[in-house]
Amino acid sequence: MPGRPQITTAKTDYQMKSKTEVTPAPKNSNRERVRQIIRQLKRAYPDAKCSLNHSNAFELLVATILSAQCTDERVNIVTADLFRKYRQPEDYLKVPERELQHDIRTTGFFRNKTKSIRGTAKALSEEYGGKVPQTMDELLRLPGVARKTANVVMGNAFGIASGVVVDTHVTRLSRRLGLTTEKDAVKIERDLVELVPKKDWVVFSHLLIYHGRKICKARNPLCAECVVEKYCPSSTLKTGVVPS
Ligand code: SF4
Repeated sequence: MPGRPQITTAKTDYQMKSKTEVTPAPKNSNRERVRQIIRQLKRAYPDAKCSLNHSNAFELLVATILSAQCTDERVNIVTADLFRKYRQPEDYLKVPERELQHDIRTTGFFRNKTKSIRGTAKALSEEYGGKVPQTMDELLRLPGVARKTANVVMGNAFGIASGVVVDTHVTRLSRRLGLTTEKDAVKIERDLVELVPKKDWVVFSHLLIYHGRKICKARNPLCAECVVEKYCPSSTLKTGVVPS
């Protein structure tokens, strides 16, 4: 029946191990379910996009480094001034380290972030003519750039689907939706690229992040208001238990 959920009961496609633990369904079943989930989330969040303000790839790279353990809202407040002061990679190398630390301190972990930004700025300046490279391998060689940052830049600055961005929201929702049982970001991404159509790799993260912020909150998921509730094995309406 059109519009009917592919998974209607926990027993059909999931072996319930406990009230909060589920074993994912076979991949083909999950692929179809993911398509339905994406369709519903696109309807709910038609404008889902990267929340970090930027006007070019280098600014997005810096903003993503700053976003570790920090909210996008806070990063946007800091970068509003930062990007006026520092326009090119070389600008981050002209000032004393302490000055940059001061300029980004409210994003937290500012000493490590300063090292990453200056290391990246140095590499871009010396090896790439001040431009951000457009391959994963090159991005991953930059100091302080791991898969999440590289995927954000590839997908949102260059429009290249290189993988799925896995942050705290994507981790939580992917596990609740039964798309992975992993906790490690690299392993979660490996599971998601198997299930999500490549054309949706970039938007999928944005959709889960928007849904995680608004509905599938960490402590109090609003399952009764959730547009993908019928596809979700962890729904409190089904289990009676708040998922982890
Ligand atoms: S049904 Fe509940 S747990 Fe499942 S995705 Fe929706 S809000 Fe999250």
